[in-house]
Amino acid sequence: MKRFFLILLAILVPFANGISAEKAPKKEKVKNVILIIGDGMGLAAASSWMIDNHYAPTCFDRAQFVGISKTYSANSRVTDSAASGTAMACGVKTDNSMLGQLPDGTPAPSLAVLAKEKGLSAGIVVTSHVCDATPSAFYAHVPKRGMSTEIIQGMLKERLDVVAGGGRKYFTDPEKVPENMIEKAQREGFTYCSTPEEFYQTKATPILGLFSDGSYPMAIERDTDFLRDAAMHTIDILDDNKKGFFAMIEGSHIDHAEHANNAEQLTFEMEEFDKLLNAVFDYADTHKGTLVVITADHETGGVTLLPGSKDFTKGDTGIDVKFATTGHSGIPVPIYAYGASAWRFGQVMENIEIFSRIKALLLEK
Ligand SMILES: [Zn+2]
Repeated sequence: MKRFFLILLAILVPFANGISAEKAPKKEKVKNVILIIGDGMGLAAASSWMIDNHYAPTCFDRAQFVGISKTYSANSRVTDSAASGTAMACGVKTDNSMLGQLPDGTPAPSLAVLAKEKGLSAGIVVTSHVCDATPSAFYAHVPKRGMSTEIIQGMLKERLDVVAGGGRKYFTDPEKVPENMIEKAQREGFTYCSTPEEFYQTKATPILGLFSDGSYPMAIERDTDFLRDAAMHTIDILDDNKKGFFAMIEGSHIDHAEHANNAEQLTFEMEEFDKLLNAVFDYADTHKGTLVVITADHETGGVTLLPGSKDFTKGDTGIDVKFATTGHSGIPVPIYAYGASAWRFGQVMENIEIFSRIKALLLEK
């Protein structure tokens, strides 16, 4: 009997662990990279979504390879989004609050800018505001993350094909900016869109999409799948370039829900993130040479999943989502990878290696 189980295990274990990985194209050249950042999304946040679904397949179950990213910054075991965004965007460990530069102030170019220099297209979509830390790491070089005017100047200089999210007030506040930066962008040839609907109707790049004064509303506050729809329209724009593209899409509010220790907000954010990932995986299935890398910049909230009082066999999850902090934690974060050369992300690595591996695959082939 024991032998029978061993044989059964020998058959089933590779099947269970390897069925997705087997499908991943190993030698396919990488033409497009879609880097998706769930801000603050640790393993517990991703797992809470899997448990909420009663272990029915989620986007995370579709991942072909899974790795671990070490998120500490140059001056702290617990990073902020500026230093970790810089690590993934520019491949350097820097101090908390710094964007696109080394601790000594030396600027470092981002994957988006390097892709543009090579003739590829590049775009950024977030649910936060476009001057927030993660997106800004892809177009700014400033010592303090709050320097929104300098961040906008960097954004206009780099002329990425798409920059979309919230943040109108940072462009127009007369106390902060020397002039209306939306009008300046338009004078410099940017197509400005003030609503997602306007954005979905245009492909005239470069596009600056500012859909709200501050951050775009959280998923719990709206009926639309904004993150998925804005991401897929951006990809539709970027993939007109035969040379390929780099896109960074951020589910920014996962972090905000965790800072607020709000499990209900977190569930809505994870639901939207799931729709985004499934749509992007479907895209990779039909567009050869597309690599999708999903990770977080850091863990937020010290999220943990404790036994709940409810009986999960009667239709509830039986799990209580608890938080250990309203800040960030030092817990390493998962990396999920899908598509061309996804296997390159199936290891334990420094967050800066996400940059170097994408650069090697996309820009140095
Ligand atoms: Zn945060």
